[in-house]
Amino acid sequence: IDFGFSEVPLEEKVKRVKGVFDSVAGNYDIMNDVMSLGIHRVWKRQTIDLSGVRPGYKVLDLAGGTGDLTKAFAKRVGKTGQVILADINESMVRVGRDRLINQGISGNVDYTITNAEALAFPDNSFDVATIAFGLRNVTNKDQALAELYRVLKPGGQLLILEFSKVTNPAMAKLYDFYSFNILPKMGKVIADDEASYQYLAESIRMHPDQETLKQMMLQAGFDKAEYLNMSQGIVALHRGWKY
Ligand code: SAM
Repeated sequence: IDFGFSEVPLEEKVKRVKGVFDSVAGNYDIMNDVMSLGIHRVWKRQTIDLSGVRPGYKVLDLAGGTGDLTKAFAKRVGKTGQVILADINESMVRVGRDRLINQGISGNVDYTITNAEALAFPDNSFDVATIAFGLRNVTNKDQALAELYRVLKPGGQLLILEFSKVTNPAMAKLYDFYSFNILPKMGKVIADDEASYQYLAESIRMHPDQETLKQMMLQAGFDKAEYLNMSQGIVALHRGWKY
């Protein structure tokens, strides 16, 4: 199946990605739970645990969307720390900000509309940066990685949580069937939006695998990079350090 994202000019791709997230923003949280059978919460929990975020830390949650990670980090950094939810899409950020404020999370969280490829932050700003299920959507991933390196403080850590390559071949077949046949239909029934969920499946297939992404991180400047597969590689957590 080719939804056409591989052949469109870059500007058009940026517009289409924006369209996808404008369109899913309102249903994003419920769809996440339905599509992953709630497992995205486990993947995120593990990411938060490995982040080592402590009171007083300054954290960037890039492509933060509706704020799952931001919420957990805000609790960890306390009053002396700060979390910045940064995202290119205003609709997603609006849903996230309303949700967090309704849950009493405020005071140490800021919201910024910015493109991962040209971050609106000075060099050496953050102790920890995360990008969860976001890098896949960025057009120039090398540039985004270089930007993430730039804004980390020396000693800082980047965590990239993203769909990756399933390691077991039988599982990979099942997963492909789920992604390209079941998932878009679920998108249609639950959110009346088949196209966005077909984009999701296609963007997952086109995303670099575990080793490729690790090499891209080193190429972008990271002094050390490693990854951890979760759920047999459906998702991988890459970690990079700036010395
Ligand atoms: N991190 C959240 C989570 O894990 O639930 C949201 C993930 S959502 C699948 C992907 C997010 O990436 C969207 O909110 C989208 O607007 C954002 N995004 C896409 N391209 C971006 C870019 N170039 N710069 C910053 N954010 C981007």
